[in-house]
Amino acid sequence: MYCFYLEKKQRLGFQKIHTKDCELLPEKKARFKLGYFDNYEELIDHAKNEYGDVKLCELCCNTEAES
Ligand SMILES: [Zn+2]
Repeated sequence: MYCFYLEKKQRLGFQKIHTKDCELLPEKKARFKLGYFDNYEELIDHAKNEYGDVKLCELCCNTEAES
């Protein structure tokens, strides 16, 4: 289980999700804490409901399970 953050990138039409330890995680004012999730499905469901279009960071999020 990881703690996830949302990077504000509305300029690009989507927002990016990082884990707490990601080296690409932006500074505090440029991110929201999403909280703890057990799996990406749950995380993405939550993030999409709350924030619209989201993408997982390629560096810190293992997207192999994504179709
Ligand atoms: Zn990341």
